[in-house]
Amino acid sequence: MENFSKRCLAVSPSLTLAITAKSNELKAKGVNVISFGVGEPDFNTPKHIVEAGKEALDKGMTKYTASSGTPVLRQAVCDKFKRDNDLVYDKTQIVVSNGAKQSLFNALQVLVDEGDEVIILAPYWLTYPELVGICGGKSVVVNCLAENEFIVNPSDLEKAITSKTKALILNSPSNPTGAVYSREQLESIAAVLRRHPNIWVVADEIYEKLVYDGNKHVSIASLDGMYDRTIVINGMSKAYAMTGWRIGFAAAPTTRVAKLMDGLQSHESSNANTPSQYASQVALNSDESFLDEMRSTFLARRNRMLEKLSTIKGVKAIHAKGAFYIMVDVSSFFGKSYNGVVIDGANKLASLIIDNVSVAVIPCEGFGAPNFIRLSYATNIEKINEGLDRIKDFLAEVK
Ligand code: PLP
Repeated sequence: MENFSKRCLAVSPSLTLAITAKSNELKAKGVNVISFGVGEPDFNTPKHIVEAGKEALDKGMTKYTASSGTPVLRQAVCDKFKRDNDLVYDKTQIVVSNGAKQSLFNALQVLVDEGDEVIILAPYWLTYPELVGICGGKSVVVNCLAENEFIVNPSDLEKAITSKTKALILNSPSNPTGAVYSREQLESIAAVLRRHPNIWVVADEIYEKLVYDGNKHVSIASLDGMYDRTIVINGMSKAYAMTGWRIGFAAAPTTRVAKLMDGLQSHESSNANTPSQYASQVALNSDESFLDEMRSTFLARRNRMLEKLSTIKGVKAIHAKGAFYIMVDVSSFFGKSYNGVVIDGANKLASLIIDNVSVAVIPCEGFGAPNFIRLSYATNIEKINEGLDRIKDFLAEVK
């Protein structure tokens, strides 16, 4: 039988996963693959957090909790928002989920009706349009230019707004671009939105702690008039190297919004993993000095990657201020050939690179940026050196 739902048939398989699968297949055959495809910190979860997870199990924290999360964790999340973002929430405005991805899904499910439009800024994280589609909404893509470091032009945002616009998804620091919106840039988005009082903002701030060069993360919810229309999404995955623990959270402007997200989640997955909730509470309430080391390691890798990329003819890397990704314009190779194979786009280029020099890079067609590949520097300096040398040698053979 093939009578599946249109909703699920419309979901595109992740291109990121295809390259990862290829890279794992080669690794299993003993090939020395270097992966710039990774979407998670390569550090271990800090020891005190791991210990807290073990303690939770030993103490028998193995039962259901409230579906929105334990009161203690939700309080720790409120304290985090006050401390880091100057945002005041009550526990009843917080919903803890199985990762920020589920928090995003809950938020979009609560906001988006069939036919509603959601504005997404390209290049975007490829999950956004999929989630919007699953919710029955229509993604309206606004292109952000590489020459503006992928920051949206407010007048382009204004032009994309229609009577059907329900929400804007804003991701800063951004995956895939590494762009970090300054307060002034957020103010100019807020100025547009203030003219359209019915549009929500879903602010994905999962890379908040990974910001470099003296830049500072600012939450759009903290700007005048924005709190009441913004659902802030964040989580433990990236900052605390806790991707596998699956804890994300949403902060809603009212208890009503939080209750709607919680109601949905209560039928979908109930609470997030109980021992992970305890470990997250300890993480949020502990000293975060380990983050300085993580940030400086990422910064050194980013700089090395940019430096190496600057020596490769034909590529143009975009300076990234946050997260752990660099976008590289590879369009100058399109239409050329490698060993007689024509490179008709980033997808083909990425598969030739993995097949011939065993380096995994992510083609950005699925991110709304067909001229680009994305390189992750969640890997060590030796691999960055070696991987980029291989890419350089490969590209030298493209004629
Ligand atoms: N938002 C962005 C922009 C991401 O890149 C990711 C993970 O790659 C997530 C959200 C999801 O994070 P989590 O592991 O908390 O589901």
